[in-house]
Amino acid sequence: MEFCKNQVVAVTIEDMGKDGEGIGKADGFTLFIKDAVIGDTVQARIMKTKNNYGYARLTEILTPSSHRVEPRCPFARQCGGCQLQALAYPQQLAFKENMVRRNLEHIGGMQEVPMEPIIGMEEPFHYRNKAQFPIGLDKNGCIVTGFYAGRTHQIIPNRECYLGVPQNRQILDIVIHHMEKYHIAPYDEARGKGLVRHLLIRYGFRTGELLVCLILNGKSFPHIEELAETLSRLPGMASIMLNINKRRGNTILGEQTVLVWGKPYITDYIQDLQFRISPQSFFQVNPQQTEKMYAKALEYANLTGKETVWDLYCGIGTISLFLARAAKKVCGVEIVPQAVKDAKRNAELNGVKNVEFFAGKAEEILPEKCQGGQVHADVVVVDPPRKGCDKKLLDTVVRMGPQRVVYVSCDSATLARDVKYLREGGYEVEKVCPIDNFPMTCHTECVVSIQKNSANI
Ligand code: SAH
Repeated sequence: MEFCKNQVVAVTIEDMGKDGEGIGKADGFTLFIKDAVIGDTVQARIMKTKNNYGYARLTEILTPSSHRVEPRCPFARQCGGCQLQALAYPQQLAFKENMVRRNLEHIGGMQEVPMEPIIGMEEPFHYRNKAQFPIGLDKNGCIVTGFYAGRTHQIIPNRECYLGVPQNRQILDIVIHHMEKYHIAPYDEARGKGLVRHLLIRYGFRTGELLVCLILNGKSFPHIEELAETLSRLPGMASIMLNINKRRGNTILGEQTVLVWGKPYITDYIQDLQFRISPQSFFQVNPQQTEKMYAKALEYANLTGKETVWDLYCGIGTISLFLARAAKKVCGVEIVPQAVKDAKRNAELNGVKNVEFFAGKAEEILPEKCQGGQVHADVVVVDPPRKGCDKKLLDTVVRMGPQRVVYVSCDSATLARDVKYLREGGYEVEKVCPIDNFPMTCHTECVVSIQKNSANI
């Protein structure tokens, strides 16, 4: 049957896609329907058709899925942050586990994936230690803050995000009240005018320390002492800063940060390791799950104390320091020079001496070091961004021939592509463990143990 735009159809949702959208068939024609969950029967309006599939908008839930739950957040459907809030948490975990398995089968070419059960959270809300709120004006000229609607820069007004810590709301109330009192204008993206762009809040779950950073299209903020005085009374407030970003575009933070009150960072822990976190630092957003993820990486690295480990894409050295206590030596490589500085300082802070960090692209530094034949790796750990590892890097890893590769991934599709490459290079996947670092969203982390085939040893 031919379908056309605006046609309304009834569809039973049988599967879910990578962005958390429902997938079902109408007369054999596959439809992708946002906000529908597996098990729902829905009415949907067709918005766009391609040759053998189309996109439709959910208009009515005819029979709700037994896995459907009432989202805790009233803005869950509009907001671009949470794609899975209407799906019960155990089914969210099953969805993520399946996604990882399917990608490793279809893209990675694996027949049987040695999966461990996904590690979920007991309380899958209020887990984020970092929030970045855009600040703008609504149609009536009132100051609003919240999150962007999916794929847009339209702010959905909401000061109460359930993924963040409750302190965020108090801080937003104080800052917005101050802006209203002194008629301080939010930034207008379209015109490039106005002062206040974003409010960044970071929280140390273990230390209880709070960092507030106002991101400005200007150098100063009216009556900042008064605002700092009010904010500093909040329990745990440790750092109040201004960041200057006069550039247009989507990058949130500018280069210059000015301290207003307190110290220029907060401290937090992963197990007994201490980390200093400044506005710019990369730090995993879900520290509770990060601890479990690093513990899994350590388990998969299977260290005896004699190994040389390369930790590629090492950020501020978190995994490197975690592994260093069980290895002979860890070498970290990271592209952002500031992160490498932080990594070195974190090593000092924790008294870890058997680590060395290099600034540069992993796919350039490793081949360089490898060429002279002066480096050796027993275990290689990679934790790349979503786009996965560069081929040149994987080639070098295969050439170096470590016993094990521990792959920490935040995108199972690129993980599977890289796994295929390593399998062709004489490695095999031994274990896979997904970890839910991002409940309510369709993202997941995954740790994979990859061993050199015994025939190649
Ligand atoms: N392992 C760290 C960071 C992981 S995020 C942690 O768990 O905290 C990925 C990191 O890779 C980021 O810090 C990013 O700056 C870095 N990165 C991105 N491309 C890179 C490249 N080509 N070479 C080295 N590092 C890179």
